[in-house]
Amino acid sequence: MNKLLVANWKLNPEKLSVAVKLAKAIDKKCVVICPPFPFLAAVGKVLKYAKLGAQDVFWEDKGAYTGEVSPMMLKDLGVKYVIIGHSERRRWLQETDEMIGKKVAAVLRVGLKVILCVGEPWSIRKKGLAAAKSFVRKQLKEDLRGLPLGTRRQASDVTIAYEPVWAIGTGRSDKPAETVEMAKFIKQFLHSTFYILNSRILYGGSVDSKNVGNFIKYREVDGALVGGASLKADEFKEIINISAEYD
Ligand code: PEP
Repeated sequence: MNKLLVANWKLNPEKLSVAVKLAKAIDKKCVVICPPFPFLAAVGKVLKYAKLGAQDVFWEDKGAYTGEVSPMMLKDLGVKYVIIGHSERRRWLQETDEMIGKKVAAVLRVGLKVILCVGEPWSIRKKGLAAAKSFVRKQLKEDLRGLPLGTRRQASDVTIAYEPVWAIGTGRSDKPAETVEMAKFIKQFLHSTFYILNSRILYGGSVDSKNVGNFIKYREVDGALVGGASLKADEFKEIINISAEYD
């Protein structure tokens, strides 16, 4: 499976012109670029190879939900992937697993691909990897509850980004061997509970050009979700080059 790199720009950059320039610089086949909502259309227009992604979505198609954006609206703009359940939304917007579960189901219903973010806080991880696995298992169970059981599903419809919360934006990435163990665990869980074979698992948390190879050299890690480093064109291009060596 080719490695996938997701550029999560979060609430950046401040100007559309900068976003468009950055998108052109990192426009490669293995990349999903997730700009803020107001930049989606313009970024989508300049992409030749990369896929367009959104950072969030709402679960209803239309109605009295001020400020929200539906899966169909995103699809209409050319969006292919939607990040759901990012820890920053769980933290700052109080997104619950119930809300995330509805978003996952709504996105799959219109034929978009989901990038579901899961991961434990440090208070759990410091108890060990077994505690982290049960935390992640609970998140997956609740967040994917909307998947119809027993139906055949393309593995590529649901990508899981394993992002230990304490590793995001801190410069303190996970130990690759532990990420690999978690990735195996998630793959097995998705297979046994949701009948999803060969699902794609990404690692996210302070990925940069110096450490990305340490994660994606493993068969079990199918790519990376990159925040801060995806805003620096040269740094992200280096990440793309390194990733290509492991396809
Ligand atoms: C993220 O946005 O999910 C992320 C992992 O950010 P960073 O790469 O900056 O840690």
